[in-house]
Amino acid sequence: MAWAHYAPALPDSAIAKPARQFGLPFAGAPGPDTWLLGQGYGNTTGAYRQRRSTYINLQGVHAGLDFSAPCGTPVRAIGDGVVAEVDGSHGSPPHNVVVDHAGNLSSLYGHLRVRSPLRVGQRVTRGQVIGQSGDSQFTCVSAPHLHLEIRDRSHQRFFNPLPYIAADWDSLSLAGSFGRGYEYDLSAPRRWQTPESQPEVRRGGRILNEFARPWPPSPGGAR
Ligand SMILES: [Zn+2]
Repeated sequence: MAWAHYAPALPDSAIAKPARQFGLPFAGAPGPDTWLLGQGYGNTTGAYRQRRSTYINLQGVHAGLDFSAPCGTPVRAIGDGVVAEVDGSHGSPPHNVVVDHAGNLSSLYGHLRVRSPLRVGQRVTRGQVIGQSGDSQFTCVSAPHLHLEIRDRSHQRFFNPLPYIAADWDSLSLAGSFGRGYEYDLSAPRRWQTPESQPEVRRGGRILNEFARPWPPSPGGAR
């Protein structure tokens, strides 16, 4: 619903602190035939290249976590909650689901292959299948993955999912491309270079990675 974009951001005091209160959106072990961590949350090179287009309203940052998975992999609710949107206005086509959780947090599951059978207002429990993973390019070949976001309930703030999700991130990071693709600012080369140290995002805020000395440089030399 469009009005959600204009609701004021919730203050810190209204939002549950990260306490590993959620689970992973897939069951079973990671692997090349199941799921792997792909693009991380934050100042990724991919988001940097599209900071003035795809990510311009998200401060130039990839505001979610990507899990590569074959199309049709069952996607599970990361926590107990209530379905707030099915194919709502919050992006990540072709299909998405938003679940509201305790503590004014919401999770968004994006690039789902088909419309979720869930209904708005329906209760879900942690681990319940809420849809099937799909592909942001709609081919199921080019880029099959789930895009997962943790937001405040007003959809104005976007949080690094890592401290909210109970998982062995160190081991998970050993496979896939996770944590290897952050854009450098050579003026501050250690900033935002680890999965844990990424900035919170506010919808419509200024671009965070408009770096004076970016590396890799912008394609075409334009900056
Ligand atoms: Zn993504």
